[in-house]
Amino acid sequence: MGFSPSREWREIAARYRLEASRCESCGRVYYPPRGLCSVCRRKSIGAMKTVNLPRRGKIVTYSVIHTAPLKAFEGRTPYVVAIVDLGGVKIQTLLTDCEPEDIKIGDEVEAVFRRIKEDGERGVIHYGTSFRPVRKVET
Ligand SMILES: [Zn+2]
Repeated sequence: MGFSPSREWREIAARYRLEASRCESCGRVYYPPRGLCSVCRRKSIGAMKTVNLPRRGKIVTYSVIHTAPLKAFEGRTPYVVAIVDLGGVKIQTLLTDCEPEDIKIGDEVEAVFRRIKEDGERGVIHYGTSFRPVRKVET
């Protein structure tokens, strides 16, 4: 299955904008966006609205991954997967630019857009959004 460049680009742009979809029927927000609400199902057809999540949020919980389950993450361990609350919407994301021991629940984080994987054979570069701690100004 191949991606046309324009489709790939639209997906990159959507990730950059933290696009989610909100069900206008029940108010649930899905990230990544979905075409249907899993609660309202048929009632949500045509009622899913694209919304952009805030780029700052707080760590709800996190775990440190020492063994990479994906080839793409080999050589990057340990890394941190966190649940981040973005204005009431909880998403799962990678944390970047930090050491696992520096992270605390409740810390403020902000979205950063990064190259995350390079597909050697086809030369396809993948981009994604991860989050990094907002550094407090030392006084
Ligand atoms: Zn719904």
